[in-house]
Amino acid sequence: MIEEIEIRVPEDRVGEIFSSDEGESIAGTRVLRLQSTDARLVKVRELHRRKWKEGGYFYSSAVPHRAYTSAELDSSEVLLLRPQALFEPAGEECGTIYDDVGACAACGVADQLGPLRLPLSRIPTGVDFAVTIAGEMLLSDRAFAVFDDAQLSGFATEPILDSDSMGGAGTLPHWRQLLPDGVELAVSRDTLVGWSWGEAVPWPRYPRSCDHLIGPRLISELQVIDPGLRTDSMRTAGFFGERQGLLRPRPIMCTSPSVRTLVAEAALQGFIFERALFEGSADTSGSS
Ligand SMILES: [Zn+2]
Repeated sequence: MIEEIEIRVPEDRVGEIFSSDEGESIAGTRVLRLQSTDARLVKVRELHRRKWKEGGYFYSSAVPHRAYTSAELDSSEVLLLRPQALFEPAGEECGTIYDDVGACAACGVADQLGPLRLPLSRIPTGVDFAVTIAGEMLLSDRAFAVFDDAQLSGFATEPILDSDSMGGAGTLPHWRQLLPDGVELAVSRDTLVGWSWGEAVPWPRYPRSCDHLIGPRLISELQVIDPGLRTDSMRTAGFFGERQGLLRPRPIMCTSPSVRTLVAEAALQGFIFERALFEGSADTSGSS
């Protein structure tokens, strides 16, 4: 696994740590990609923290990027699933109801009441998996059939109503809502969370307002406790994110290796798999 931290620094501050010809200049900001083992990252973090306390900053963003070899993904016992297609609108903008009365007052986690409603005209094409900006997951009928034929476990789906047509009463063709119905994975205490790479801490140290939340964003690779009995679709027991407009904290989706294999074999589109780790597995000792 190659892990790089992409940091964006205003041009007039680059010289405080980096040489003048490093990185790429984009509209007055220097974009630098540093291997996570680069010793200067310690200085970057310290300088940013010092400036932050004084009301300023060194970098405007710092985001980790990871690249895996096929062999690393092939040998992963658990994978994190991300969508290639993230789209608007959110279900709530199209009449999907959430239980605001029963929602957690602290973090906003709430149950969806009734069917997901979305307009067919806005659903991405050419993919079999897509997610709204609010985290509602869509699986194509074709992908569901492939998973169902292979008897994969943990993939529950519900019909979606097309908010575009028939007064919102018609069923959306080709798509179903994917519900995180599999085994819940407890997040390992070593998983780093935060708003950005620079302030990331192991999640139990992140200030939380309630028991649902793990943290605002996953910063490190996801580490989970092996549940023993695994399903092919799994989800973290804790939630990531914050209530902000249409957004609510959501669990992170994980899968077994079988899902990745089937996606490749059936040429299903729109699935991005990253490595996740079981705590105590051989991989966790060597990862950075
Ligand atoms: Zn909560």
